[in-house]
Amino acid sequence: MITGHFGLAAAVKSAEKPVPLWALMLATVWLDVLFTPLYLAGIETIQNAPGTNGGYGDGIIHADYTHSLAGALIIAALTGWLCAYRWNRRAGVVLGAVVFSHWLLDLLVHRADLPLLPGNLGHLPRLGFGLWQYHALTATIEALLLLGGAALYWRASRTTGAPAGRSAQLTALIVACGGLTLGLDLAGL
Ligand SMILES: [Zn+2]
Repeated sequence: MITGHFGLAAAVKSAEKPVPLWALMLATVWLDVLFTPLYLAGIETIQNAPGTNGGYGDGIIHADYTHSLAGALIIAALTGWLCAYRWNRRAGVVLGAVVFSHWLLDLLVHRADLPLLPGNLGHLPRLGFGLWQYHALTATIEALLLLGGAALYWRASRTTGAPAGRSAQLTALIVACGGLTLGLDLAGL
């Protein structure tokens, strides 16, 4: 689920024009970016869901620090604070919220593997509505989020008087990034 996150970033950009698109796109996948070094270090892991071969949506992801509810809130708050320092307070609030939106979208698709506290402290019940078990449905939702977000972005960018060529290039970039990640996801890469 990276494509859906990109779609959301594009939609937010259409409403929050002063916040840079690249910052929104990075913020929307920031939890997954932080997951990568922890995954490589073996601290956070992915297992195949029982009875699957680990393709699209078939992972049980033990991202117990970056994707715990409390961890995601802390990362979102820290990122928002840094962005407020870099740009302004509103940009900080928007980017912090976009960082946390990742957890909410993941909550919809993940199987129940998202802990409440970092390191699954206290072994509380894990969360996740498991939409990923329905591959075609989830892939369709991701594609619709991407295309919807890109369309909102295109329409908003045309009202700012930006050159049409530049708007088209950036819209194409959003669709290409999202389409590529969905393609790689579906191919199980
Ligand atoms: Zn994630």
